Amino acid sequence: MWRDVRAVVFDTDGVITDSARVHAAAWKAAFDACLRDHVPADSRLRRPFDIRDDYLRYVDGKSRLDGAASFLDSRGLTLPPGHPDDRPGTGTVAAVAAYKERIFMERLREGGIEAYPGTVRLLEALRERGVPLAAASASRHAPELLARAGVLPLFDALVDGAEAARLHLPGKPDPALFLEATRRLGVPAGQAAVVEDALAGVEAGGRGGFRLVVGVDRTAGPDTGAALLRHGADIVVRDLSELLTEDVKE
Ligand SMILES: [Mg+2]
Repeated sequence: MWRDVRAVVFDTDGVITDSARVHAAAWKAAFDACLRDHVPADSRLRRPFDIRDDYLRYVDGKSRLDGAASFLDSRGLTLPPGHPDDRPGTGTVAAVAAYKERIFMERLREGGIEAYPGTVRLLEALRERGVPLAAASASRHAPELLARAGVLPLFDALVDGAEAARLHLPGKPDPALFLEATRRLGVPAGQAAVVEDALAGVEAGGRGGFRLVVGVDRTAGPDTGAALLRHGADIVVRDLSELLTEDVKE
């Protein structure tokens, strides 16, 4: 499987670090507050945010504003977009995104962020084999997360949310973020792999023409693996240690 792969791009949240659960919990606090303040007219849409299904479907892998707008739309709520400087609240899409950000930062400081041991083992094995590695993330927090988890030195390149904004890269499922990462590694996408846990992320890998798209399903639920395959993953694993095959170890 790794024979023709000359570089690997790893998504950050949920693939390298266990921070996806912190993001999901912060989104839940912000969205549920919003749903209390703006009760959907359609009673079938009056459901709280589901940290597994709604997170995967509407916000995972997207920029904060895209994710907030996407979930609110799913509940029939059309809030004004607001302004990037809006204070945390529930009156505009930007305020809801800021609300999530405030809670995420509080929880990040309270609890440690760790790298998944299986991911670290794969990263080290690929490095030993001389494969250039990049971390990519729609989040501006990616460098801090990777540093806190102690894995930042394992990567040759990092494209985070701040870089994406600076370069005006569209968000996933557009492959721009991943293509920028492989460009920095000096390897064409057709000879590189993408490792992703978000539906929008595996879709981006497929659209970008990557040699291999690996989906990571941490949910242990019945549906996520099939959804990752439908959205463009070539294979799905529960943990990246499953990819420590003989050809990567040798
Ligand atoms: Mg992710």
